[in-house]
Amino acid sequence: MISRKEITELLLSKEPEIISNLYKRAADLKLQTIGPKVHLRGLIEISNICRKNCLYCGIRKANTLCERYTLTDEEIMTCAKHAYAAEFGSIVIQGGERTGRQFTERITSLVERIKFIGNGALGITLSLGEQSEEVYKEWFEAGAHRYLLRIETSDPDLFRKIHPNDGHHTYDRRIKALMDLKSIGYQAGSGVMIGLPWQNAEHLASDLLFLREMDFPMIGMGPYVPHDDTPLTVTTTTDPEASFPSVADRLELSLKMISLLRILVPDINIAASTALEALHPKGRIMAIHAGANIVMPNITPSDYRKYYNLYDRKAILLEDLDLGDAEIGFGEWGDSLHFFNKV
Ligand code: SF4
Repeated sequence: MISRKEITELLLSKEPEIISNLYKRAADLKLQTIGPKVHLRGLIEISNICRKNCLYCGIRKANTLCERYTLTDEEIMTCAKHAYAAEFGSIVIQGGERTGRQFTERITSLVERIKFIGNGALGITLSLGEQSEEVYKEWFEAGAHRYLLRIETSDPDLFRKIHPNDGHHTYDRRIKALMDLKSIGYQAGSGVMIGLPWQNAEHLASDLLFLREMDFPMIGMGPYVPHDDTPLTVTTTTDPEASFPSVADRLELSLKMISLLRILVPDINIAASTALEALHPKGRIMAIHAGANIVMPNITPSDYRKYYNLYDRKAILLEDLDLGDAEIGFGEWGDSLHFFNKV
């Protein structure tokens, strides 16, 4: 087993041979444990309206420069049918965090309708932020079986620095939501941002050990990609202590994190995040070669994609499913082996 000290040393290493050996070790382990396939999740970004104000996020509520949109039910159904026809196997319904009965019931009814497509052929992942346990239960019973909710950082102090101190963005609330998802029976996915201001290798090593400790069956980790219209970007230009790694270093750190996580928990699903493509045109393929096995092609109608701008230069705008020589598990759910091994 790899120790915290070794993890930190590998994260800090600049030796090309050590780094390429790390990627190779993780890719070999993926092959032996879960096989060669990459599984797809068609990503439908249903709305960029959000009630939260995370300091790094381009679609935060207070960003008045962000033009808001919401897909209609029929547009969402068309995307889901497209995913089914293209044999994506699964979809992710992602949107800003909203609450209230009208929103909850709308999602419930959409999940139920999507389950009818191909007689339950599509696996459904939701990514709609922190909700009450009752709401999570309602959506699970409607047919969603995976939920993505990133912790962003496992360090409570760093979490506080990248979120407003208004009582609505707390570390404890996020942990409670993740525990609720797990106890309801979802395949609960989480993840962290890599290369944040104030973050160091020890934070990242702790993140990896936290993700293992929490026993999440699926993980999506991506590099921090600054967005111009956010308070965190303003802070990084005015506070020298809020510096963060270069594009090349954030890319390398992200790939190392994927490899290290694969070594720590070989049978989980690890996503090649879209944010990686914002740093390098081949970021997604690089992630697969470093041990990732899930790709989330964006299937939101192209008219709306430009408004879902969590990051600047989001690679989604250039979406083109180029996965090199990877073998794709068309029409398969590609659930996390770890989830079933555990159950
Ligand atoms: S990170 Fe998520 S919850 Fe936070 S402002 Fe952005 S969309 Fe909303």
